[in-house]
Amino acid sequence: MLSKQDISDRILVQEHFAKEHLPGDLSREDIERYKARIKTLLKEKNACLVAHYYTDPLIQELAEETGGCVADSLEMARFGSERPETTLVVAGVRFMGETAKILSPEKRILMPTLEATCSLDIGCPIDDFSAFCDAHPDYEVVVYANTSAAVKARADWVVTSSIALQVVEHLADEGKKIIWAPDKHLGAYVQKQTGIDMLMWDGACIVHEEFKAKGIQDLKRVYPDAAVLVHPESPDSVVEIADAVGSTSQLIKAARDLPNRELIVATDRGIFYKMQQAAPDKMFIEAPTGGSGATCRSCAHCPWMAMNGLDNIVQALEEGRDEVFVDEALRVRARKPLQRMLDFSAELNR
Ligand code: SF4
Repeated sequence: MLSKQDISDRILVQEHFAKEHLPGDLSREDIERYKARIKTLLKEKNACLVAHYYTDPLIQELAEETGGCVADSLEMARFGSERPETTLVVAGVRFMGETAKILSPEKRILMPTLEATCSLDIGCPIDDFSAFCDAHPDYEVVVYANTSAAVKARADWVVTSSIALQVVEHLADEGKKIIWAPDKHLGAYVQKQTGIDMLMWDGACIVHEEFKAKGIQDLKRVYPDAAVLVHPESPDSVVEIADAVGSTSQLIKAARDLPNRELIVATDRGIFYKMQQAAPDKMFIEAPTGGSGATCRSCAHCPWMAMNGLDNIVQALEEGRDEVFVDEALRVRARKPLQRMLDFSAELNR
């Protein structure tokens, strides 16, 4: 039986999440006008829109309506490379545009803004990383997809969170020692699961690092039957209290498959769009990021993903601005560890 306090807490949480999140200052009319313009431009420019799960739901909806896709970074690049269109508009962050270019050099890759980056990418500059690798030549270098083309080119393997465990298990079976970069939380999770000898780079995602186990436990008192879904870029204390841990695609699947009707989700709230599609009768609650003294309940949204908007998608298509270029020699080197992951993934799914 819920107490009065529990009920008022529930109302507070529900009101917070019920607020309509319109991008910027756009009115409904502006949104419809932008969407119609983008649909026309995509046809005119022989372009396809691919969007990450963390982008604004309006962008995800538009990608689906126009035959594009909404996916994680690897699937975005793979999908884009198989499309007949000559231009890809990549709504996400810069390393996703670069990955698309690495896999599809013949295509023109446009982004709503090249300013959209990632704290993991920023925190792993190539010169420092290269020196670190050079100092440990007997270690296999495994880097997360959230890195620059230059860092990928220095690696033996690129992994995404959806395949990291399998790749590292494979390397552990071969008796390899690895350098892992850049996310220390995902690295700690992978190390714990596989027991591999790992040297870790000290990077973190500024969104996932902020989730608090204490805040989630407090929220569980308000929603005692809720399951907790956690992305492994979150701190260990948060991963430990999860009912399901996984990549974006794996969390969407868990949202559908778990019997719980209420789900507390510790990843960017943009993912709710696809979770709601996968499990329309369930309720999704943002995991808290604020500590007890904080003024906000949750800030679970990536500031760089939020830079993607309908307005700058129009500008990208109209003006051809914010095009992604990767030096050809670098691209060829960066493709090798990426292709290795794709081949490994294809082998697993055979
Ligand atoms: S959510 Fe984190 S990992 Fe993803 S793009 Fe933003 S900063 Fe990078």
